[in-house]
Amino acid sequence: MQEKGTISIHTENIFPIIKKFLYSDHEIFLRELVSNAVDASQKIKRLAQLGQYSGELGDLTVEVSFDQDKKTITISDSGLGMTAEEIKKYINQIAFSGATEFVEKFKDAKDANEIIGKFGLGFYSAFMVAKQVEINTLSYQEGATSARWTCDGSTEFEISEGDRKTRGTDIILHINEDSEEFLDKWKLQGILDKYAKFLPIPIKFGTKSQSVEDGVDDKGEKKWKSVEVDNIINTTTPIWTKSPNDLKDEDYLAFYKELYPMSEDPLFWIHLNVDYPFNLTGVLYFPKVKNDFEFQKNKIKLFSRQVFITDEVKDIVPEFLMLLHGVIDSPDIPLNVSRSFLQSDGNVKKINNYITKKVADKLAELFKKDRKVYEEKWNDIGLFVKYGMISEEKFAEKGKDFTLLKNTNGEFFTPAEYKEKVKALQTNKEEQVVYLYATDVAKQDAFIQSANKKDYDVLVMDSPIDSHYIQHLEMKEEKTTLKRVDSDVVEKLIVKDDGYANLLTEEQSTQVKEIFEKAIGSQTYSVAVEGLSPEEMPVTVTMDEFMRRMKEMAQMGGGM
Ligand code: ADP
Ligand code: MG
Repeated sequence: MQEKGTISIHTENIFPIIKKFLYSDHEIFLRELVSNAVDASQKIKRLAQLGQYSGELGDLTVEVSFDQDKKTITISDSGLGMTAEEIKKYINQIAFSGATEFVEKFKDAKDANEIIGKFGLGFYSAFMVAKQVEINTLSYQEGATSARWTCDGSTEFEISEGDRKTRGTDIILHINEDSEEFLDKWKLQGILDKYAKFLPIPIKFGTKSQSVEDGVDDKGEKKWKSVEVDNIINTTTPIWTKSPNDLKDEDYLAFYKELYPMSEDPLFWIHLNVDYPFNLTGVLYFPKVKNDFEFQKNKIKLFSRQVFITDEVKDIVPEFLMLLHGVIDSPDIPLNVSRSFLQSDGNVKKINNYITKKVADKLAELFKKDRKVYEEKWNDIGLFVKYGMISEEKFAEKGKDFTLLKNTNGEFFTPAEYKEKVKALQTNKEEQVVYLYATDVAKQDAFIQSANKKDYDVLVMDSPIDSHYIQHLEMKEEKTTLKRVDSDVVEKLIVKDDGYANLLTEEQSTQVKEIFEKAIGSQTYSVAVEGLSPEEMPVTVTMDEFMRRMKEMAQMGGGM
């Protein structure tokens, strides 16, 4: 049999458009073809389970190989294969119309990078690197004969008899001149590592040498020899596909090391698993956050049915969770869409809320289970929790119960506990409650000491996020103001009958005050003379809280 034909699609020449689009991402051809091979293998497994296929399943390993002389890359599977009729249906019609649809949808997109994942192009992506694509396949169906299809990416195709003797499909790419870089072992290995590392069917790429025991030598010592074994590039059941009940801490830690070999152990993790109203699995880790946290952002890897898609999860994961590490796998995240669409997508919103809730629940659980341990971790997670508090309303609702405030004595309080503590120390219970805080414990030490001596508590607010968190607290806590400990004399900040008396007369105080004011020569600062004793800060020079915040805001260019 031999048949030539024309594939009927609406847009005649889609190829140049696709090529232009995906220019920077040609390597995804391999992801698409390998995942098709995996799909075909899963399907034959399923058919066998359903009793619709009674032959031997055999070894379902998918093999990727290349030939530098012939300039080909071949992807072979032992999946369900295709008959000639099926090729016409699935490749000529579905694959090509899928590509057409893709182009129709995105030809007006300004920037190809706008389209995340660039998924959905499927089989057709082979033509990004191949001048000719050949399919040689044998269907699992009784009495099927092998079929061969060839096409150069235009709408002309050819079908003839194939020579595949065993069930399954070979996709042979005749690599074009511009893409010869792909005819390289390390290049291909790298692409497979990136996209196929966790696919559910073993993927073989060449062989590798391995040391095996080889008896003992004359002295009774073990001998080793090197043998060539299949180079299987993937782990077929990564931990996120397993049940949390079957996993130990070591498993989670080992997986973390596999993902981020250079990183310190994470603090804790959350196993995500939901199948309604959307399907999502994954493991999120809380890393030890360093000061260079910009560097740690964007470490979450997004998968769709174990196929790696992207590590740009912005818009899928709430901004404040971008610091987390780990894996999210969801077939329900629309991948072949632009970012602006993604932000308004219903599923993405639900996923966002789900992850936020899970993270909040986990923190609440840790806090409840062992507060001491939680407090020890606060240095590493505080920044992140506060970021969540100020940026996500839903998180803030739960987070107020496990956010901690630390005072200069190293004691921790929830905001509610702290309010009670401070109220008890202040006499003006009916009015504003004032929390004192320090942004630099060393620099503001004299003020802290002085406040402590008079029984006032001082919070430490020294992280980059704290100025925003302070505003958040003032907004959320009724009748509460936060004042930096050096923003005025403590007695003026907090009305409290403390029984301290000025040793100077009023006249003496005024004189001292004038001397200091003259010396400073600035309206921004104010001078107060308490004149208790030389140890008790007889004179304090302060800057008003409001003035200082305004000044800081001006310096930062107006907030986050
Ligand atoms: P998708 O995988 O999203 O269905 P593709 O364009 O990747 O779209 O593939 C189109 C169709 O071609 C598949 O749905 C499948 O029916 C068929 N196909 C592709 N590769 C293979 C293969 N290796 N074995 C069997 N069928 C395949
Ligand atoms: Mg596909």
